[in-house]
Parts: sequence; C-alpha cells; structure tokens
Amino acid sequence: MKKTISFDLDDTLIDAVEAFVPWSNKKYGTKYKFNEIDDGDVQGSTLKQWIDFFDSVAGMKIKPKKEVKDAINRLSKEYRLIVVSARDPGMHTAAKRWIVKNFPGNFKKILFIKGRNWKKSKADICINEGAIMHFDDNPRHISDCLSKEVNATIVNRPWNLKFKTSAPRINNINYRDIIKIINKLS
Ligand SMILES: [Mg+2]
Repeated sequence: MKKTISFDLDDTLIDAVEAFVPWSNKKYGTKYKFNEIDDGDVQGSTLKQWIDFFDSVAGMKIKPKKEVKDAINRLSKEYRLIVVSARDPGMHTAAKRWIVKNFPGNFKKILFIKGRNWKKSKADICINEGAIMHFDDNPRHISDCLSKEVNATIVNRPWNLKFKTSAPRINNINYRDIIKIINKLS
C-alpha cells in the first residue's frame, strides 16, 4: 500500500500570495510588495477580495512552478497524495477546479478543515488519513502538527522565515528535497 503525503494548497502548491499581490495592486491600488509580506493572509485584504481573486481569470491562470508540477507527478507514482487546505468554503470550488486542471489525477483526495475554529485541524486530518508528512507554509499548522506528533515540513515564504521550529524546511516543493526528507523518517 502506498504511503500518504499531505500538501497544503495556498503558497505550497499554488503561489497564491505572489499572484494576489500584483492583482490587488492593480485592481484596488494597494501597494503590497511580495517580499515584505509578513503574514500569509496578506494584512488588509478581505475574504471577499480573495474569493474574487480565485474566481477571476487571473486566479485560474496561475500555473504551478515547473519543479512543483514535476515533483507532484513523480511522487504520485510512489505515494498516495492528498491536499489539506484551510481555504474558506467560498473558495472550495475554485480550489478543486485549479487542482484538477493543474494536477490531473495526481491527488487522491482534496480536503478542507472546517471553519476558523479548526474543529478538525490539518493535523487531525493527517492522522485520519495516515499521512507520513504534511507540507505547509503556515507556522500555525506546522506547530499544530508537531504538537500532535504529525511530521511536518515548512515551505519557506517571507512570512515564516523568523518562525523557530524543529520541523525541516524546504524552499519549494521539489522532488529531490522531498525524497530526502521522507527518507530521513525511517
Ligand atoms: Mg498555505
């Protein structure tokens, strides 16, 4: 039986903030700079703006980086891959559409945590699904995973670089580094 690996969606598989910044600057006249964003939710942005963004042509047109696409393709042959996202329900359809379009057949499940109170957190879902590793850019999810003894790797982004954690770090989703991290588990 294939072992399961879990991936966050936004800013792990899809460079959501990187694409949102110029879109918002153009549409709303904001002055965001990607490298200065210190909060993955982009302080000052609203839920409605994010829903509009992911429903927009610009949102659907975002392409995963080539190394991310290659990694997911290769990994899906050796592992059972799932997506575990904290996206608001208003963005679930767009999330599924984007994943199916860009990673056809690669993910066995696309799961969302329920509500902002994390009734069931990403770590809980990883436990249910038997995931041997979860990849995420958000320190809160990494901490939650580690506190529940779920292996987690943090994907480096400007807003998490100061976060101190015992979790391994990865610059981007790529096959070579992921295999290295997975091999260290056994
Ligand atoms: Mg994320």
